[in-house]
This record gives sequence, structure tokens and C-alpha cells, in this order.
Amino acid sequence: MPLPIPDPSSVEALLAFLRFPSVSTDPARKKDVAACADWVADRLKNMGLVTTVHPTLGHPVVTARNHHQPGRRTVLIYGHYDVQPADPLELWHHDPFEPHIENGIVTARGATDNKGQILSHILGVEKTLAEKGDLPVNLIFLIEGEEEIGSPSLPEFLRQHRESLKCDVVAISDTGMIGRGVPTLTYGLRGISCIEITLTGPDKDLHSGIYGGAVANPITELARLIATLHDSEGRIAIAGFYDEVKPLQDWERKAWSKLPLKDSHLLDLSGSPLPHGEPGYTGIERTWGRPTAELNGITGGYQGEGSKTVLPSKASAKFSFRLVPGQNPEKIHHLVEAHLRKHCPPTVHLKVDIGHSGAPYAVDPHAGFGKAAQNALRKTFDGAEPALIREGGSIPIVTDGFRDILGVDTLLLGLALPDSRCHSPNENFSLENFAAGMVLNRHLLEEIAAA
Ligand SMILES: [Zn+2]
Repeated sequence: MPLPIPDPSSVEALLAFLRFPSVSTDPARKKDVAACADWVADRLKNMGLVTTVHPTLGHPVVTARNHHQPGRRTVLIYGHYDVQPADPLELWHHDPFEPHIENGIVTARGATDNKGQILSHILGVEKTLAEKGDLPVNLIFLIEGEEEIGSPSLPEFLRQHRESLKCDVVAISDTGMIGRGVPTLTYGLRGISCIEITLTGPDKDLHSGIYGGAVANPITELARLIATLHDSEGRIAIAGFYDEVKPLQDWERKAWSKLPLKDSHLLDLSGSPLPHGEPGYTGIERTWGRPTAELNGITGGYQGEGSKTVLPSKASAKFSFRLVPGQNPEKIHHLVEAHLRKHCPPTVHLKVDIGHSGAPYAVDPHAGFGKAAQNALRKTFDGAEPALIREGGSIPIVTDGFRDILGVDTLLLGLALPDSRCHSPNENFSLENFAAGMVLNRHLLEEIAAA
């Protein structure tokens, strides 16, 4: 079957969108980010949607809506027009903001995350409006410019505009497909909870000859403390940590075991010599459906060239815990802190700093709009059965924003491929998926209208 290819004017639009260096984290790019928001808004306005560029304390939020009619479903499509920085530039084969097309693949910063994906929805709507003059649903586009810096303005924006953003469901294309041509519905995400700890022994660095052996070494005590987080087989040993974890369901384990993702793929992708983790689970069960206690960084003592015989005053470590449905980030913070205090010896002082957190997310992909999403994916990808997956990462706005403020579920219909290189040099998007996204948009709105 010939691959679907997007029409030339859609490709032109994509290239224009990708040329904006809309790097939200870089203050020097503030004007480029604003210009990119205006470009998105113009496109939406020219399609006949009522469009607003809302200033925030950071970068603008763009909203657009068709004429809403009573009795129709309301769908909110969320995306972002900001991108990650392109550094390190020397690893790019072409200018990251001068998109390059080769073999049906466009390479540029933001190609997949998220410009290509959100634009496919915008153009899908544009085509439906041009052909039929109307959409089957009440539609709201919500496209922000701060996703890559943690969406600091969005929760307040959602609270302020709760009434006008009222909807039945949110749809996002900002996750992945498990392989080319395999439609994928992501129905769960892990949450996160970050903590940093510092152990202080002596009030200054000491001579290890004069004091060593008589004063506790904070690095040694930190290493011991870290080692108490897991048992010898890889289970988390914090009392109560698993108490509220919702176990994997039989249908999930069965469905996941049939996916073309084996532990050997994890090894290939990670470069690790052997699999590791909680006993009784496969690699994807461990990353999609089980919680973790992960050490992200550790510092202490002398780290320069050569040796320095010092008994350091301090040692510190950063942790993140990935959480699964049932777990609550605040409760986990308390359990972790209690565990650390219990196991920390009195020879050092322990300081615990709680960092950012986000709740886990899961919906039943067989219920409600999940079925509509599956139908739309099937129709878009030539009848192929959608892979139903969870992802190990976190999208806090799905829980803290759409679920907790707007009170609705989110359909995650990602179009990123495993080699899209989001956030990395040579980020790319296949034009095949760009075309598929436009078709998906039409089927999705039709299926939601009929659900
Ligand atoms: Zn991103």
C-alpha cells in the first residue's frame, strides 16, 4: 500500500512553523516564542475559529473555538508550540531551525515534540471545515508555550477560564507509537515525586589522617542509607510504599506480552548489559506499571584530579520516585522521609528537601471515549489493532490540570516514533505520521461525536 503523503501546502505550513526558534526556557527567545504564538493564532483565525492570544506571566496561551452548539460533545485538543533548546548544535546534521526533508522525514527541533503533532490536528480541522463547513463537535484548541518548562502558567489559566474551557474530554498527541504503523493509545502515565537529602557530619572538611576512624564519614553513611531503599532483589524496602499500588490487571499483562517489545529491546536501547528490576515483572511491566525509587545524582567530598585525603563535612543525593495509579505523591513523601529518618544514624544530621511532584494517571481504555479513540486509530491506520499501553514518564498537566481542574479524562494519541529523537539532536517527524495525524483528527472528532 502506498504510504499516505501530506499535500504540499500542509508541508509548507509545517516548515514555516518549525522555523520559529520558540525555545521557552531561553529569555533571549521571548520574541520568537511570541511570534510563533501569533503564527499559530493567525492560522486558527483564518480557518474561521474564534481565536485569542492570552498573555500570561510567561509565554502566551492560544485558544480557538468553533461556534459551539448545545447538544454536541465538546472536545479540547491540547498541544504546545514551544520547544526544547537545540544544544548541542554541533551534533545536528542541519540547522535545527531550518527544517530539512529527506526520505519522507522532516528533521528540525520541535518536529515531533510537539509542532508536527499539534499542527496535524490544526490542519485536520482546517480540511474538515473547508470540505464540510462544520465540525461534528464543539471544539476548543488550547495551545501553550511553556510545556517544555513545566507549564507554570497553565494551571492558573485553567482555573481562570474553567467555564469557557468546559469540555467532555481532552485529546493530546504528544506521546509515542510503539512502532511504525502501529496505532497506539496511551491510557496511563506514571506520577513523580522528587526529594533531595543532605547528610552533614563534621562542620567542616577534616584531615582524614587526624580525624579518620573517630568521626562518621557522611559519604559512607549516605551510601548505607541509599542501600536501605531496596532489598537485595530489587523491591523497594520503604514501609508502606506498595500499600496503595493498584496491581496490573490480567488483560494488561496479556496484551503487553503480545506487543513487539521484549526485554532484549530495552537492553538494545539502553546499552545495559543485563535486565534488572523488581522480581516477577517484565521490563515493560516494570517501566509502565510499577513504581520506582531512583537515585538521580550523588555528590560529596573531593572530585577533582588526583587525590585529596579529606573526610568531608557533607554528602547529598537526589532521588525521584515514579509512581503508579493508587499512589499519592504527598503520602509517598512522608513514607520516604520517615524511612530515611529511621535508618539515618545519629552520627550525622539529615536534611530532607521535598521537590516537585505529579500524580499518576490511568483510565480504562475500553470505557467511554477510550473506545472512540481506539476506533479512530483503527480507521486511521488501515484497520490495524491499536496497542494499548501505559508510559513510564509523567505529564503532570493531565492530572493536575485537566483531571483536577477541568474534571475530565485525557486521550493520549501519540504520533512520535521510537526514533523521533525528541529533546535530542536531529529530532525528526515522519511525513507519513504528519498525514496520519490529519486523518486521525477527522476520525477522532467523528467517533467522539457518535460515542
Ligand atoms: Zn518535550
